[in-house]
Amino acid sequence: MSKNTVCYNGLNFEPYITKDQIQSRIKEIAQQIEQDCKDSAPLFLVVLTGAFPFASDLFRQVKIHDAEISFIRLKSYDGMGTTGVVKQVIGLNENIQDRTVIIVEDIIDTGFTMKRLISDLQVFNPKEIKVATLLFKPESLKTDVKPDYVGFNIPPAFIIGYGLDLDGKARNLDEIYVICDKDKQTPAPAIKG
Ligand code: IMP
Ligand code: MG
Repeated sequence: MSKNTVCYNGLNFEPYITKDQIQSRIKEIAQQIEQDCKDSAPLFLVVLTGAFPFASDLFRQVKIHDAEISFIRLKSYDGMGTTGVVKQVIGLNENIQDRTVIIVEDIIDTGFTMKRLISDLQVFNPKEIKVATLLFKPESLKTDVKPDYVGFNIPPAFIIGYGLDLDGKARNLDEIYVICDKDKQTPAPAIKG
């Protein structure tokens, strides 16, 4: 086992996406956002908790004078039968009517969270909603959500670090780790989104 392996809850994780890879990809995404949104004073809406390191690094790279940032949290509760867990937005204090909103997420897996969030925000009549996610698991997607800015496409393996947690732990790792496969299979590499 590699000396860089980390262990949480008895599970082993190995390095997957390095600090340098994360930071250089964030610079590229920031440039795309600058080009697309330079005239629109975008509001970056960060989904807590997992997206906070990504949002912090991304927001400082986006050189748009009138850009603003705010934070929301999603509360889950049971119900709605087959749709499973439904999320409720808490903490949206800004008026987003006629504004460009860029949702900043750590990861899109099934897409249920993002789908629900977008439909909740549409009620307030923003000018447009864009989605920036550091990580995307296209093979896990079960909705029609299409993120506008994707850091890395990854296979459907469980990952931690750089904001992503296992039971609240591992968010402070400064690179991304993937769970070690019992059969020693190397996960497919992360591909730029
Ligand atoms: P979705 O609604 O299935 O797209 O799930 C999104 C949420 O699931 C993310 O915001 C994360 O909190 C969590 N999640 C999905 N995949 C992972 C993972 O590999 N590691 C840690 N959290 C994950
Ligand atoms: Mg999240």
